[in-house]
Amino acid sequence: KLYNEVQDLKGNIRVYCRIRPFLPGQNQNHSTIEFAGEDGELIVSNPLKQGKDSRKLFKFNKVFGQAASQEEVFRDTQPLIRSVLDGYNVCIFAYGQTGAGKTYTMSGPSLSSKSDWGVNYRALHDLFHISHSRRNSIMYEIGVQMVEIYNEQVRDLLSTNGPQKRLGIWNTTQPNGLAVPDASMHSVNSMTDVLELMNIGMTNRATSATALNERSSRSHSVLSIHVRGTDLKTNTLFRGCLHLVDLAGSERVDRSEATGDRLKEAQHINKSLSALGDVIFALAQKSSHVPYRNSKLTQLLQSSLGGQAKTLMFVQLNPDVASYSETISTLKFAERVS
Ligand code: ADP
Ligand code: MG
Repeated sequence: KLYNEVQDLKGNIRVYCRIRPFLPGQNQNHSTIEFAGEDGELIVSNPLKQGKDSRKLFKFNKVFGQAASQEEVFRDTQPLIRSVLDGYNVCIFAYGQTGAGKTYTMSGPSLSSKSDWGVNYRALHDLFHISHSRRNSIMYEIGVQMVEIYNEQVRDLLSTNGPQKRLGIWNTTQPNGLAVPDASMHSVNSMTDVLELMNIGMTNRATSATALNERSSRSHSVLSIHVRGTDLKTNTLFRGCLHLVDLAGSERVDRSEATGDRLKEAQHINKSLSALGDVIFALAQKSSHVPYRNSKLTQLLQSSLGGQAKTLMFVQLNPDVASYSETISTLKFAERVS
């Protein structure tokens, strides 16, 4: 195996915290982040409520402060991503309230400048690069799928028949026994192919929603990268899969205010995020029963969660004092799974 760093990771579940910077207009004097250390320590407090006992300490595998660039974040994610080329299955999630930077971390704020690219695009770029450099010994084929899970319904975002196709079966088992989402698979060879496909995905997402941003914060989007390698010396075949997940916003919805569709959405999000938490918690505890069946999300990702698979969760935080209670509930979720 070429990427030994991966073997050095402690266990198969890692949790990174990323704090997004203040946005123009936000009052920077009221940060809930008291300390964010390189070694993974994070201290939060409510600046409007003085008193030492209000300070809370959390520990992560890594904390990325407000100044961390997309490149720095990727550098610590790269070994995990490259292990897909050795046949591992990997799942990377971004968790946090709406506005905390999940989409920024996974996709990036724009595609026009490479320095803006998030984990998704950097991952594909890197996989192409490494697979080319190994082409004399291994032949790689890379395919991508992209689905959205909204109200426990899965939609193929790369369907060329439009976005309305609902997927009845979540996983189809291929002849080799590997389960993949029952969604269209697109073979890609270059970033040009990828960017073209992502445009289809974005168009499909936009036309199926009345307000894109609203909808995107209430659905999970899953980009799946499937790698098939043929070892040219031994003529053996192996597979790896990378799921990159931009989760729905974790904010709690006020029960007294939410009604109808909004309440239904909130209940679905709540249910699927707790199901994900339960699965990762069970894996972290090395429990013999892992409750994959409780949500479409965990069903879809089952083959990449647990066993030899590697999991990374980005816990995204908004440092603004107005987000204090959501920050605490996000950190409690992270604490349970790490
Ligand atoms: P989410 O997907 O969690 O709802 P976004 O990724 O859309 O949040 O981020 C909310 C806003 O904050 C966007 O305007 C985004 O560009 C900005 N933002 C998030 N993270 C960063 C960051 N690390 N650096 C600069 N701006 C960021
Ligand atoms: Mg988003």
